[in-house]
Amino acid sequence: MIKKQLCNRCVLDSRVPGITFDQQGICSHCALHDKLDKLYTLNSQNKKKFETLLNKIKISGKNNKYDCVVGLSGGVDSTYCLYTAKRLGLRPLAFHYDNGWCTAIAKKNIEKAIRKLDVDLEKVEFPWEDIKMFHRACLQASIPETCLPCEVGIASGAYKVAAKYNIKYIMLGTSFRTEGINPLRWHYLDGAYFNDIIKKFGQLTSATKNFNKLTMPDLFKYIVVKGIKTIQLPLYIEYNNQSIKAIMEKELDWEYGGKIHFDCSYKPFGGYVEKQKFGGRDPGLIALAALVRSKEMTREAALEKIQADDSTPVSQKDIDYCRQRLGFSTEELQDILKSPPKTFLDYSTYYSVFSKLRLPIKACCKMKLLPETLYEKFFTVV
Ligand SMILES: [Zn+2]
Repeated sequence: MIKKQLCNRCVLDSRVPGITFDQQGICSHCALHDKLDKLYTLNSQNKKKFETLLNKIKISGKNNKYDCVVGLSGGVDSTYCLYTAKRLGLRPLAFHYDNGWCTAIAKKNIEKAIRKLDVDLEKVEFPWEDIKMFHRACLQASIPETCLPCEVGIASGAYKVAAKYNIKYIMLGTSFRTEGINPLRWHYLDGAYFNDIIKKFGQLTSATKNFNKLTMPDLFKYIVVKGIKTIQLPLYIEYNNQSIKAIMEKELDWEYGGKIHFDCSYKPFGGYVEKQKFGGRDPGLIALAALVRSKEMTREAALEKIQADDSTPVSQKDIDYCRQRLGFSTEELQDILKSPPKTFLDYSTYYSVFSKLRLPIKACCKMKLLPETLYEKFFTVV
């Protein structure tokens, strides 16, 4: 067996697809972090840029009830994103995509945030039978993105809500500093990819079309025609997980569910499948490595956490709950776990088109027509 190489700075190892190490044994994800950290240093220049951006957002919504859309799951990042948008004097419209797996504690957090921050909430939901079919198809497709339906639902929902209310900005609570950037072979997302999986393992119907708004014609409509922009808020503000939780507990009566992704009851199951099928793929690993680089956690504590997580597997109760809701027998789930792992490269996607559009994509990221660090995701850590 080949011995795995562990990065000397973070906690990623050679099982991460596409990872490389320099002569000091530092991994390519650490190098990417440093590059982005330089681009988005929280200095006075960045602050000025952000102030200009805030003004633009406010002006864009001058004649509108809202000036930005903020997705809200009830978890840490999205709730803080909404809180910050409000604190910065923006007029956000919160939107919640109901993925059918929202936990009771997350629902309470959403209600409290909406009430305390005095913002409107737009809910986006789809019939459970469709959601169930999407999840079943993604599991049968043997891909590492077990949460693909939810990600398509959130991104599509944000665009739909922005277009419906003529809002020009979508605020995201994601950042390379707290979440890291997953390699493409562990995490890929586009509208053609989702449709191909549904076509092969589910049913491509008008419901799917209405759900998935990430196809080329849809993106053209939202990004080019309507000019909807996406801002990754944590790139511009101080963002420390521990203090964020304390602020929200105090200001919003927000409750922490005790673990990462506590807002979704599907996550532990999805993580279990990903870990079983894709060696070294742990849904929290890339984020943990990011927290080490951002000095929110020591490398030792992160390594201890990985070891502790490895020795406390997901409970059978959590596995059975999701398996039964999705209508799989124990044997069918075993077949899914045993089937050879695949990636986006095994399906029809827009990737070949995107790879030919490096410069336009770079320009779109700069203009915030696409999330700013998407270029790095697509072209640095495949
Ligand atoms: Zn590293």
